[in-house]
Amino acid sequence: MTQIHHEVLIVGGGFGGYYAAHELSRHKIPVAVIDTRGYQTFQPLLYQAATGLIEPDDLDFHLSEMKRVTSVADTVTAVDVAAPAVSTASGVTVTCDQLVLAPGATVDFFGVTGAADHTFPLYTGADARAIKDRLQSLFLHGDGPVRIAVVGAGATGVEITGALVDVTQEILPRTFPDSPKRSVELNLIDHGTAPLRSMSAESQQTAQTVLTDAGVVFHLGRDVTAVSDQGVTLDDGTSVPSDLTVWAGGLSVQGPQLDPEPTRGHGGRILIDADLRLPGHEGVYCIGDAAADRENPLPQLGSVAKQQGLHAGRSIRRQREGKTPQPFRYRDMGDMAMIRHDQAVVEMGRHHREVTGTPAYGMWLGLHAYLLPGESNRLEALHDWVHELSTGTSQFLTD
Ligand SMILES: Cc1cc2nc3c(=O)[nH]c(=O)nc-3n(C[C@H](O)[C@H](O)[C@H](O)COP(=O)(O)OP(=O)(O)OC[C@H]3O[C@@H](n4cnc5c(N)ncnc54)[C@H](O)[C@@H]3O)c2cc1C
Repeated sequence: MTQIHHEVLIVGGGFGGYYAAHELSRHKIPVAVIDTRGYQTFQPLLYQAATGLIEPDDLDFHLSEMKRVTSVADTVTAVDVAAPAVSTASGVTVTCDQLVLAPGATVDFFGVTGAADHTFPLYTGADARAIKDRLQSLFLHGDGPVRIAVVGAGATGVEITGALVDVTQEILPRTFPDSPKRSVELNLIDHGTAPLRSMSAESQQTAQTVLTDAGVVFHLGRDVTAVSDQGVTLDDGTSVPSDLTVWAGGLSVQGPQLDPEPTRGHGGRILIDADLRLPGHEGVYCIGDAAADRENPLPQLGSVAKQQGLHAGRSIRRQREGKTPQPFRYRDMGDMAMIRHDQAVVEMGRHHREVTGTPAYGMWLGLHAYLLPGESNRLEALHDWVHELSTGTSQFLTD
């Protein structure tokens, strides 16, 4: 067993881990990031990659590109919170002075029979590529209607459904004008009574109206009980035939095993203090999707993870100067969902806005450019997306 020491160690190089490392390296504090994949994926653009509007690889940012940061591709299997120290899959023990846990959350099939085998989740670049391949193969090489079901009508489910409308009704037929015209059946299923459950009633109504007008059939207030290669079964016995079932049903925190096991909240999120530290552990922070403030749990959003990462970095600097970390305060960046390529709902504070056309692109680009790592060239991916939509064809869909 190899043992090494880093002054500051970060587990997970997603939005939270990246911005914590960025803040520390900016102030020349030695920092190491261990991430299973060694790269992070810009998840907000996954649905465009899954529908062929951008190249999935363009969404990956390799952590080795970060300046003055040691990046290691390995999986942390266990965390000794008291030490603090971590053990990795490759047999290394890493001790550290301060530890930041940012392992995110992963897809949860919630024990639904057949879901793991017969659905396509949307969490990684590989997931997006698998959806894109299945979609174009169904569209170009099948016969009869193209039958699609999306499970989960949160922001991810609504955005992928809208993008599937755009791509099947407009972009695929224009990209392959010689292929036979195919009809498309699109179903969106959720156990809640409205889509976009975290948004206002007006935004929910807009999403439902826009998608219904585009031909999407909603199945609300229904749980999925089973999935097979034939489609989806609902809790009232209804069968929804599907050749492509996208799983946007939710996430839970799995991550490495912690000793002692922390108190967890909804979805397995680790409960933390207001200053982002694990209760009782001065040198251990937990941020992003994996964490929830005991008093004030925030949504699992990139903007929350980014701000928490920056705050954890600043707090570690304070501790090293003998000062006490400050409580974290979230600056609300607003919430938005693209429903179709030219239609979005935006909520800033208590205000609700429906935005269409060019302003919708503009707001979407602004909100997401804020999340892009500084070293990244993924603005090109954003540009590709706008370009593909304006030309109405895709260079990433091939027969
Ligand atoms: C499809 C989709 C669309 C989204 N769209 C938006 C959006 O439009 N706007 C928005 O604000 N948010 C959006 N989000 C949410 C946003 O992506 C997350 O809130 C954010 O990524 C959380 O950051 P994080 O650092 O906590 O975790 P992540 O970004 O998930 O990063 C966790 C990292 O930890 C690594 N890791 C996990 N376990 C281990 C381990 N044991 N050892 C080593 N490494 C490990 C993983 O490889 C990963 O790189 C979206 C999410 C999805 C899935």
